[in-house]
Amino acid sequence: MTDCLFCKMVAGDIKPAIVFEDDKVLAFRDIHPQAPVHILVIPKQHYANLNALDDAALVGHIVQTAVAIAQQEGVAESGYRTVFNCNGDGGQTVFHLHLHLLAGRQLAWPPG
Ligand code: AMP
Ligand code: ZN
Repeated sequence: MTDCLFCKMVAGDIKPAIVFEDDKVLAFRDIHPQAPVHILVIPKQHYANLNALDDAALVGHIVQTAVAIAQQEGVAESGYRTVFNCNGDGGQTVFHLHLHLLAGRQLAWPPG
């Protein structure tokens, strides 16, 4: 989608701090980190959010990518959180599917 921020990253028009990329996903550091490690994993194909996603294998690949990055960042054992925010009550602000990987501090539960 031409007016989508994350599609512009996939296209290379906006350059985030990339930590991983393959043919299906892109992972980059969140510009407003909410924890010492805050990385977003996105599919290269545009889906607005989980409600629009019809590809179970792609969800699996996104999650497995987040786990691999957690290991790479050295937080797999200390712990981390993965979150898909969906629509208004979920707190979604960018409408291109993304998985948040948060780590590096004690995270509160329940979330706000
Ligand atoms: P959400 O609120 O779940 O839709 O998350 C969107 C996330 O995208 C937020 O954590 C933002 O800080 C992050 N974000 C917005 N613009 C950028 C950008 N240019 N580069 C990296 N992360 C961004
Ligand atoms: Zn998009």
